[in-house]
Amino acid sequence: MTAATTAWATVVLVTLVAAVALVALVRQRDRVLHDLARTDPLTGLGNRRALHELAEPLLARGGRPGLLLLDLDGFKDVNDTLGHAAGDDVLVQVAGVLRATAGDAAVVTRLGGDEFAVLVAEPGSDAELEVAAKRVLAGLSIGGFHAGVVPLDVQGSIGIAVAGPDGHTLGELLQRADVAMYAAKRSRAGVLRYDAASDPHSAGGLELLGQLRTAMEQDQLVLHYQPKVSGDGARLLGFEALVRWQHPTRGLLQPADFLPVVERTHLIHALTRWVLLSALRQAAAWRTAGLHTTMAVNVSAVSLDPGLLGIVEEALALTRWDPADLVLEITETAIVQDPAGARATVAKLRERGVRIAVDDFGAGSTSLVHLRGLAVHELKIDRQFVAELVTHPQDDAIVSALIALAHRLGLVVVAEGVETVAAADRLCALGCDELQGFFFARPLPAAQAVAWARAEGLTTPSVEVLTAGR
Ligand code: C2E
Ligand code: CA
Ligand code: CA
Repeated sequence: MTAATTAWATVVLVTLVAAVALVALVRQRDRVLHDLARTDPLTGLGNRRALHELAEPLLARGGRPGLLLLDLDGFKDVNDTLGHAAGDDVLVQVAGVLRATAGDAAVVTRLGGDEFAVLVAEPGSDAELEVAAKRVLAGLSIGGFHAGVVPLDVQGSIGIAVAGPDGHTLGELLQRADVAMYAAKRSRAGVLRYDAASDPHSAGGLELLGQLRTAMEQDQLVLHYQPKVSGDGARLLGFEALVRWQHPTRGLLQPADFLPVVERTHLIHALTRWVLLSALRQAAAWRTAGLHTTMAVNVSAVSLDPGLLGIVEEALALTRWDPADLVLEITETAIVQDPAGARATVAKLRERGVRIAVDDFGAGSTSLVHLRGLAVHELKIDRQFVAELVTHPQDDAIVSALIALAHRLGLVVVAEGVETVAAADRLCALGCDELQGFFFARPLPAAQAVAWARAEGLTTPSVEVLTAGR
């Protein structure tokens, strides 16, 4: 071999080695880019694209994966009140809980914001998915979350969709898990499996919505009235109207059976209008007959917009009802979802002289922040604290603090879900202004509500006349 040939061979070898190294580098770079494109930089979990690439082949092969969709409750408040860095901190901790609790066979991804998806490739049964979902929520509630040094309570809601019965593409599964998640959040069930009947986009949901239009025209909707009594139980102060649907084939439907569907469409405004008008007509009729009470009507979060003012105005005018005797109950969640919008609407209603109650108080997360500067009159303590008031010293402490706080803020306090004499006595001792619950009466049809008031001796003489002969 000549020197020239040796040199040439060396050059070829070096070039080859360099080329191989370059290819390896390019491959590595591609792998990194590939991973980066499929990884959520904040939590290190897979992202939406990763979920697609995992799920689509499974679905194409006819697999039956299950999808859990988790959305944190009240996470917006963490961002709003503690800042985005704190929010990020919490998301990283939540990702850790998900990794630890979702199970070995599950792949956890973050879809964006505070939304996480867990894909279980081959669930043994639907029950297995529910168990996994509950394990995740239990992991969250064990807590130990913090943003910087601030300890935080993080809760979430999970919707479950299963390939096959609930959808055939990842898009369908995500959409249906989202519907179930929303229903779980609204009903505070924690975990819910997708149910076509309560999905406004499904055939069952669409059918229900179509029927609701006629239901309102044909008086299939009915209001039941639950009394509110004074703290000592001696006086009837008012009624709360609660809607039911006497469905022609499905029997008497409770709000939970149809409100979640209605609230996702503009029909909710028609429902709010129907309830408000019907309740005030009833109250006005009672008043004419001598029964003087206030009337409370629930307003869904989605109805709490400027359009509500017109609806209220119309109902007041048609029934000549005194706005001071109308209470609109809005949930704490409604305020949390849109603090500025809620505040503006509440302020206008207040100017008009209508009373405002914050319903389910204590059920949300950062209530006090939003309550500040919101011109409300009443606070209804969520029934979860009232239910075991007597047996759980912690609930007793919370309720007595809430009553004291509300009074300091000049608000009337109502306890809902009073089921026992012991709870009623304790609430009276704590200075609670108004009580409501099965212990006094369940929500009753109008005639029975008056009969109840009469039997309890909580009425004026003219009510005796009203109910005479029944
Ligand atoms: P809410 O406003 O918190 O109403 C109280 C619910 O608790 C009612 O359920 C009532 O029947 C129940 N309840 C009352 N006392 C007790 C008790 O002592 N123990 C227990 N365990 N439960 C008690 P309901 O009628 O099924 O209504 C559920 C929810 O549906 C209401 O919660 C309210 O948020 C919504 N809702 C009801 N009617 C309407 C309406 O006309 N419009 C709107 N937007 N929402 C409504
Ligand atoms: Ca209420
Ligand atoms: Ca309530």
